[in-house]
Amino acid sequence: MSEPFQRVALIGLGLIAGSMAHAMRGGGLARQIVGHARSAETRETARRIGLVDEVFDTAAEAVRGADLVVLAVPVGAMAAVAEEIGPHLAPGAILTDVGSVKQAVIDAVGPHMPEGVHFIPGHPLAGTEHSGPESGFASLFRNRWWLLTPLPGTDPAAQERLTALIRAMGANADVMEPEHHDLVLAVTSHVPHLIAYTMVGVADHLRRVTEGEVVNYSAAGFRDFTRIAASDPTMWRDVFLHNREATLDILGRFTEELFMLQRAIRMGDGTLLHDYFSRTRAIRRGIIDAGQDTAAPDFGRAIVEGKQGGQAR
Ligand code: NAP
Repeated sequence: MSEPFQRVALIGLGLIAGSMAHAMRGGGLARQIVGHARSAETRETARRIGLVDEVFDTAAEAVRGADLVVLAVPVGAMAAVAEEIGPHLAPGAILTDVGSVKQAVIDAVGPHMPEGVHFIPGHPLAGTEHSGPESGFASLFRNRWWLLTPLPGTDPAAQERLTALIRAMGANADVMEPEHHDLVLAVTSHVPHLIAYTMVGVADHLRRVTEGEVVNYSAAGFRDFTRIAASDPTMWRDVFLHNREATLDILGRFTEELFMLQRAIRMGDGTLLHDYFSRTRAIRRGIIDAGQDTAAPDFGRAIVEGKQGGQAR
């Protein structure tokens, strides 16, 4: 990256902001990184671990003089934060967000952006089931996609600068229409999370009958669901409330497929099941070929210990 940012303000100090702070520090991508989080507890933790150079008690103070502002709060909190910081943003500053839904964030943040501030919405497709100021790590974005959904008329130089930062943090940058982003993410992330939440909920009900067997004999399929279903409840509540249309569309299609498979099982239609599972296996191979997951058995768990790159989210 050519010129580092002078002062980056991270609003929200959780997994994504924390990982950005580590990645930017490691790569010398910002001269100063400051931040703000809602609770005194998170602010205190961030100060104690030195997550950023300075932690402010209000978002308005944090963004003063920043040439890059990153909104890294749950999607449902974006509007209030944007309203608070709008009048305090420096002219010429770039403001981006990392929200998992794009159209709703554009609607929430856009009206509060003053003239001369470059608002470029974004979404890193990287995450883990952990949250909070101590959960971030520098390699989270490595080899993951980071989608930008710029508005018409976005300043190309500002977009190029943000893209360079994203690439310098190890991610691959791409551009998408906001509505298309929300549909794609409903398929690849949002509905899969909902299914995981549901399956763990079903098992939870069962557990009352089987007394702990679900936990004790937890097999890989269910274990993977529990990992996803351990994700932050506030973040995911907001994702579903703010990507309602696309989620309901994909959920409708999912339900139809499920009924079709249910019928095949009932009718003993092994050919249909085998053909279906062969097609899905090919999709998994495509994901590995694209470098978005490991081909190691059990997702590389036995081999990979500790913090590696994040999962696409
Ligand atoms: P996180 O670890 O839970 O952190 C969220 C941060 O936002 C916390 O510091 C929290 O402060 C702060 N916050 C919440 N409400 C706030 C408010 N009203 N004003 C100021 N700060 C507020 O969450 P995260 O995983 O980093 O997610 C942040 C954003 O990234 C979300 O929009 C999410 O959709 C998106 N995202 C997440 C993932 C993922 O897998 N986790 C992946 C891609 C994108 P307190 O601790 O004080 O509450």
